[in-house]
Amino acid sequence: MLDSAVKNDLVTIVGEDRYIDQIEILTCYSYDSFLEESMPDAVIFPLTTEEVSEIMQVASKSGVPVTARGAGTSVCGAPIAAEHGIVLCFSKMDKIIDINTRDRHVIVQPGLINGDLQRALAPLGFFFPPDPGSMNFSTIGGNVALNAGGPRCLKYGVTVDYVLGMQVVLASGKIVRFGSKNIKDVTGYNFTSLFCGSEGTLGLVTEITLRVVPQPETTQTLLVTFDNLDNTAQAVSDVIGSGILPVSMELMDKMTINAIEDSVQLGLPREAEGSLLIEVDGSREACDREREQIIEKVQEHGAVSIEEAQNQEDRDRLWAARRAAYGVFAKIAPDILSEDVTVPVSKVPDMIRKIYEITGKYNLKAGVLAHAGDGNMHPLICADRTNTIEWMRVEKAFREIFVAAASLDGTLSGEHGIGLAKAEFLPLVMDQNSRDFMSLIKNAVDPDNILNPGKFV
Ligand SMILES: Cc1cc2nc3c(=O)[nH]c(=O)nc-3n(C[C@H](O)[C@H](O)[C@H](O)COP(=O)(O)OP(=O)(O)OC[C@H]3O[C@@H](n4cnc5c(N)ncnc54)[C@H](O)[C@@H]3O)c2cc1C
Repeated sequence: MLDSAVKNDLVTIVGEDRYIDQIEILTCYSYDSFLEESMPDAVIFPLTTEEVSEIMQVASKSGVPVTARGAGTSVCGAPIAAEHGIVLCFSKMDKIIDINTRDRHVIVQPGLINGDLQRALAPLGFFFPPDPGSMNFSTIGGNVALNAGGPRCLKYGVTVDYVLGMQVVLASGKIVRFGSKNIKDVTGYNFTSLFCGSEGTLGLVTEITLRVVPQPETTQTLLVTFDNLDNTAQAVSDVIGSGILPVSMELMDKMTINAIEDSVQLGLPREAEGSLLIEVDGSREACDREREQIIEKVQEHGAVSIEEAQNQEDRDRLWAARRAAYGVFAKIAPDILSEDVTVPVSKVPDMIRKIYEITGKYNLKAGVLAHAGDGNMHPLICADRTNTIEWMRVEKAFREIFVAAASLDGTLSGEHGIGLAKAEFLPLVMDQNSRDFMSLIKNAVDPDNILNPGKFV
């Protein structure tokens, strides 16, 4: 419970409707899509930057922790109020402030759902490239704070590549602006990049200017299957290594394909050991040329079948299968742990072998799903947290997967972030001096450590 004087100050700012402290509602804000839980003392729904600033002035004066929250779809525990205090939920700040296709930018509030932005841009012939699997329910603020990626980020890059400017409320309540509306801007430190991926530990983003791009003339989609997972992974490494740059190269192993078919029956070939969902876009000529080059490469690696989407309906079906790939694992066991170690693309075959070796050693039910073209793996382990012995094996397996990724010049996270899930593993990929530098920045910006405390920094 917050001190009653603090509560009064906060209610004065937002009113009673947007200040929640009933236990049954707080519970809904105590978890994300990871496994940890921690109860906040209050959830507040701001409507304006000024309100956020006033809330932060109260919080900093009283030393109450503040954890930002978008839609709570993080899979690393990032929006969990680890040290209780206030959850500041941005879901009511969800407006598109301006769409300017002539200058190729949009200005949005942080609570806007990514998919709503895509739907607003599509009729104008534009899109916002970052497309996390959660795009229909995650927010732009969450995408920025976790520097989200997605299938088409192989060609187009991740969220940070599209953030031109932002308005931020600092721990003290001070309002600052970084960047601008310009595609090119090297005026001072690049703070917009620093805030992308900062997981709400440096400031609260209340307005974002994003670069948008015109839709390509055409898109072509292929589903390629293999009778050997190693060949599937080698094909990815070879296509990318040969200089072709598809929009997406999504890998699914046999367990993933079958989990999808068991749940949603979209006609994926159950017998395949590995499959690649590959998309190219651009002019018709460029797409035809790239498609032919890709077909040649995957055939060299023993592709068993190649299905080309004939129309939008086919394309939607293939992508529906891929987007279902996370949720369908819930049928296999009560808990799913999904990580996102990332390795250089030439090491994708080694990393997949390692994942199988480790999960096999610990006798775990595991599938592999990957944004394989950029080396971003999602090993998914299905287990039961209440089975302590099994859960110890899960934890050991993940530690070894992180160690294996680090030994292959990889990293802990390609897109999901560190949050609570991976903080203890940071030393595997970041030396002490680099971690100290990160702490130095955090201490300078948030000296009382009230912004999302208890996380990776
Ligand atoms: C089925 C499924 C599929 C997914 N697929 C992908 C994928 O393909 N790629 C990918 O990258 N991720 C994926 N994710 C993870 C998750 O959806 C993304 O990380 C997403 O960006 C989180 O957005 P959110 O609105 O849910 O943020 P939340 O989970 O609510 O918060 C995430 C972080 O952002 C901070 N934050 C939120 N708003 C603000 C703000 N205004 N200012 C400062 N900090 C803020 C929070 O404090 C927290 O640290 C997936 C998750 C699920 C459940």
